[in-house]
Amino acid sequence: MSDRPLAAVVGVGTELVTGLRTDTNTAEIAAALLGAGFRVAEMVRVADDATLISATLRRLTGACSLVVVTGGLGPTHDDITREAAADALGVSMSRDPETERRLQTFTSRHRDPDARRQLFTQADVLEGATVVVPTLGTAPGQTVPTPMGHLVLLPGPPAEMRPMLATLLATLLATSSQAVAPARLRCTGLTESDAQMRVQRALESHPGVELTILASPADIEIVIFDDGAGEAGVAGAADAALEALGEDCYSRDGSTLAQVVVRRAHEVGLRLAVAESCTGGRVAAALTDIPGSSAVFTGGIVAYSDTVKTSTLGVAEETLAAYGAVSSQTAAEMAQGVADSLQADIAVSITGIAGPGGGTADKPVGTVWFGLAREDRVRTWQRSLFGDREGVRIRATVEALDAMRREMQGS
Ligand code: AMP
Ligand code: MG
Repeated sequence: MSDRPLAAVVGVGTELVTGLRTDTNTAEIAAALLGAGFRVAEMVRVADDATLISATLRRLTGACSLVVVTGGLGPTHDDITREAAADALGVSMSRDPETERRLQTFTSRHRDPDARRQLFTQADVLEGATVVVPTLGTAPGQTVPTPMGHLVLLPGPPAEMRPMLATLLATLLATSSQAVAPARLRCTGLTESDAQMRVQRALESHPGVELTILASPADIEIVIFDDGAGEAGVAGAADAALEALGEDCYSRDGSTLAQVVVRRAHEVGLRLAVAESCTGGRVAAALTDIPGSSAVFTGGIVAYSDTVKTSTLGVAEETLAAYGAVSSQTAAEMAQGVADSLQADIAVSITGIAGPGGGTADKPVGTVWFGLAREDRVRTWQRSLFGDREGVRIRATVEALDAMRREMQGS
């Protein structure tokens, strides 16, 4: 195996081990550490129990050069990560005057004097720790040296955790010379096994890398880890994989399909729009999730009922009567209609049967028609998408975004 440094991630909170809240932080942190070149050996969730947290941290700091903990840094009685970490490392804690001063500004939010008082437990800092000042919220993070490396304490609320994680990673990447980030290629429009075959063959002449393939609905991520080849070796392997995947590969830096679509539309100066039926606005949501999309995405129309398809998109009643809402003809008129009304250069339409009901022998659940209009030309195509309602809707969304991407490829 490679000499990537070992890391562990710990989620602290009784809510996480009881299922009252879903633990999203540890996955986000682990993925980020992976990107920073660590080998994440363990991901653990622990209840708000001082003995358990302390024992877990003692064990993991003895085995890993980096242990990142999230949760239990707030002011309430169940926020005991600081004490448990100090106990695990056998170090003392003291109140950080700078943090105490910063917390003063928050006291007026609380009515109860005891609530005001306990706010300051968040200023308790472990001996030798560097305080990470929060951009949001009250709890600071802490980076504590350990015999093997570092123990990092981050807050539990995801919005507070994320900016601190980003700061931490920037520091880690700047200081660790051995960390080689894996290459992450993403593709769509082919099966997981096809992707594997193409990439495996291409990597035969690239030793010293390790390949993982992660499939999610209509989207495949190919991760190439360093296993002795070093940074240049990983980059060379990624180039070879990219060539083998061709146009099916839409990103080699981990960017999402929607990010790639928005970036490409900026580059080529084209405006996009969408007319959605069975995806109910998911394509528009995916595009508007991306900052800066307003310059390239003019808008979307969710035309769920036949009435809205005719009144808003100009689909002819005769078309609906003759061919039905899920048809090539309707998809074509939807795409053309939205391109005209929302003044787009490229407009995509989606109309299909997401299920579980509504399928027929002719048009079973999963039948989805797509249209793409560009400068008075419109083309349509049909897909038989696999999955339950959610699966069909996700796959249709990816198909629509990917059609926009491929259309802009040559532009
Ligand atoms: P805490 O700072 O531990 O009290 O956490 C405050 C809140 O942040 C919890 O009530 C959860 O809603 C959320 N939270 C804590 N840990 C996690 C986690 N690992 N993943 C997602 N949300 C979390
Ligand atoms: Mg908690």
